[in-house]
Amino acid sequence: MKNISPAAVYLKDYTPSDYLIDTVDLEFELGETSTRVKSKLTVRENPASLSSAKKLILNGENVLLKTILLNGKELTKTDFKIQENKLIISAVPAKFELEIHTLIKPQENTSLTGLYQSNGNFCTQCEAHGFSHITYFLDRPDMMACYTTTIIADKEKYPILLSNGNLVASGSLGKDKHWVKWEDPFKKPCYLFALVAGDLERVQDEFITQSGRRVDLHIYVEKGNKHKCEHAMQAVKKAMKWDEDTFGREYDLDIYMIVAVSDFNMGAMENKGLNIFNTKYILASPETATDDDFLHVESVIAHEYCHNWSGNRVTCRDWFQLSLKEGLTIFRDQTFTEDTMSAAVARIHAVNDLRNSQFGEDAGPLAHPVRPESYVEINNFYTATVYNKGAEVIRMIQTLIGKEIFRQGLDLYFSRHDGQAVTIEDFVKAMEESSGISLEQFRLWYSQAGTPVLDIKDEYDPHHKTYYLTIRQSCPATPGQNEKLPFHLPFKIGLLNGSGEEMFETVLQVKKQVEKFKFDNISSFPIPSLLRSFSAPVKLHFSYSDEQLQFLMQHDTDLFNRWEAGTKYWVRVILDLVNDFQVKKKLQLPLGLINVFSALLQQAELDKWLLAEMLTLPSERYLAEQMTIIDVDAIHAVREFVITELANQLKQDFIETYKKNHSLNTYQFNLQEVGRRQLKNRCLDYLVHLDDFTLHEQLALSQFAVALKNNMTDTLSAIKYLTYVDSPLQGKILTQFYAAWKHDPLVVDKWLSLQAISKSPDTLDKVKLLTQHEAFDIKNPNKVYALIGAFARHNPVRFHSAKGEGYLFLTDIVLELNALNPQIAARMVTPLTDWKRYDIHRQGLMQRSLEMILKTKSLSRDVHELVSKSLQ
Ligand SMILES: [Zn+2]
Repeated sequence: MKNISPAAVYLKDYTPSDYLIDTVDLEFELGETSTRVKSKLTVRENPASLSSAKKLILNGENVLLKTILLNGKELTKTDFKIQENKLIISAVPAKFELEIHTLIKPQENTSLTGLYQSNGNFCTQCEAHGFSHITYFLDRPDMMACYTTTIIADKEKYPILLSNGNLVASGSLGKDKHWVKWEDPFKKPCYLFALVAGDLERVQDEFITQSGRRVDLHIYVEKGNKHKCEHAMQAVKKAMKWDEDTFGREYDLDIYMIVAVSDFNMGAMENKGLNIFNTKYILASPETATDDDFLHVESVIAHEYCHNWSGNRVTCRDWFQLSLKEGLTIFRDQTFTEDTMSAAVARIHAVNDLRNSQFGEDAGPLAHPVRPESYVEINNFYTATVYNKGAEVIRMIQTLIGKEIFRQGLDLYFSRHDGQAVTIEDFVKAMEESSGISLEQFRLWYSQAGTPVLDIKDEYDPHHKTYYLTIRQSCPATPGQNEKLPFHLPFKIGLLNGSGEEMFETVLQVKKQVEKFKFDNISSFPIPSLLRSFSAPVKLHFSYSDEQLQFLMQHDTDLFNRWEAGTKYWVRVILDLVNDFQVKKKLQLPLGLINVFSALLQQAELDKWLLAEMLTLPSERYLAEQMTIIDVDAIHAVREFVITELANQLKQDFIETYKKNHSLNTYQFNLQEVGRRQLKNRCLDYLVHLDDFTLHEQLALSQFAVALKNNMTDTLSAIKYLTYVDSPLQGKILTQFYAAWKHDPLVVDKWLSLQAISKSPDTLDKVKLLTQHEAFDIKNPNKVYALIGAFARHNPVRFHSAKGEGYLFLTDIVLELNALNPQIAARMVTPLTDWKRYDIHRQGLMQRSLEMILKTKSLSRDVHELVSKSLQ
């Protein structure tokens, strides 16, 4: 048996469409087994088309064609053909009206692409190609049209009927049905189309824009969730105000709607005027959501809201330009979080995300540039590279040309391209024009994959009071790109003197492979604070001494770099111990480390949230990223050893800090309260590593008992580590937790994850059992992420157990998902794809799993592309 490889699409093959669609008039009749869709299109020849023999080729997948009418006349079987998900109509006039009647089955749609049902409600997901799962259409983002949508449905079952734009008419139809008509005055690509029908509850508010227009704000949720929308509503208003103040962007429709659904492949979707969200990013209340959840709700809402300009008003010409909207919008939502919470912590989180997910991608078989050159399945390119590295590229432009000029460039981009589908090149040109700075070489960030490495050396000439910095850049080979040209990057640097005073700060423009920078009038050999605020997404090598790192941890005025110095120091300590562990040497903490840590705990002037981040050791994933051959067992053992040793030696300090910051006040989400909770829970993380049952009972168990019904941040922190290791309390606590929360799907997700990340040797067996539990449903992406995703991605020591059972388990899950939901199957397969990073034995086992998947009959394009690329 042989699988035929699905064909790739190339950026270089882009051509304008032969035809344009100006208006789309849709009618949906929602039924209990199938849905009837009528689509009336006004079509004309595209004057920009390059082809001499024009053809009308519409895309459609899993749609049953009933009738086609051209200018009111029904076409016969000889007038058109259907071939490989394409409807080809041979002879069409230069201008015409096309009416297509199709039948679809949303109730059977488990891929959650197109129109489907979630908990009995209808909803859509059209990005990237979901619209062609609804009707035949020119499904490409540069096909921008004005839409009207009529929805007909059962009155009782679906009292709420929503689509993009403004509601213009509604009425009853017979005894049982009703209908509504929505009209969207803005031109949009079909990936921004949305429809929702269901029995939902509404929370409402309003926002007055900077020009004084009133906008109705509606959040729709499933019944019983209304009380969990307050935070989301506040976040919407905060984001709207922030985008006006920061970027001058005002909302354009009279109504802004959000619907939260339980079954959703992504986090959220920015459909024009009708955002659809995963419940995870809307519902938040103190008793069910953690500080992190509250934070994510805000940033995802800001992200989708910001898309109204960066994505909707100005969209992408083709999917290779995805980062045009995603990189820019991630940058905008990150800036929102920096402006509204702790700026340093927000930057730390963003950099952690990048390093934990994107650096690995850049170093593996699936490495691709921010603007890929080709793809088989575009859904596989909603990656950390396109999103997070894309955002870093935008941030670098801002650093290079300055904040004010960047804002002018953005204004120019929006005004010049409003209502258009454009390219990354158009964006860069607007930035060049407003700044007068050439970004010619800078464009390589969009076309070259791989994480650049900077090797830095310094020297000091006391005689001339001159300091020199030599920066050498390189970039490792990535698939299809062996040779790389040097990047243009902003390198922010500060120089500190021995008493911690800042002597100098500047942004260097690095452009050459090797460059030497000279600093005059430097009175003593400075301690350099390099790549401040992570001014470029690179790996940095500089031989700091332990003392220099400790000094920067205490004194750097750039708070991000203060944390970064700590990270460098912990990585060094842990990797040295990993070497000792591998040669079976007795582990011992280096001298002085306890003092460093204890000094940190005393840094009273730092904000508590930042301090909590500084007390956190690098993740096992980030540590793994630093090793040529990843040794999951050694990393885990050493990291646990360091935590336990620190807990032993600083027990009193941790207890004191814990008690000082523990409070039984009502939960509030603000900078001070989050900081306090984060700090004390970080102390608790250390303390529960002690083999001291009385202490656990006193601290963790009492925190758990008190918080269980009113503070999820404290509940989870208290039980995370008691379930993490093989504690005798595990079973009892998990049972209690489930009994208290089994009615709440998002909390049940946390319960599943807790068990999936447990380091107990029998975790895999428990995870297997949980797949049969009433709480798990393989058709729901959130459940799959919570259980399977958490196990394969966040429990390396158990997933990569040397027997390979973890790999076989994941293989079975991927194959089951492949038939149900290819997008989620593809996301689940990724932990296997970087198999070359492990030892020979594990490599063999992982490779065998990948080959097994590749041999499977009817493998989806999504999974096929990732697996075959990783085996190359
Ligand atoms: Zn987005």
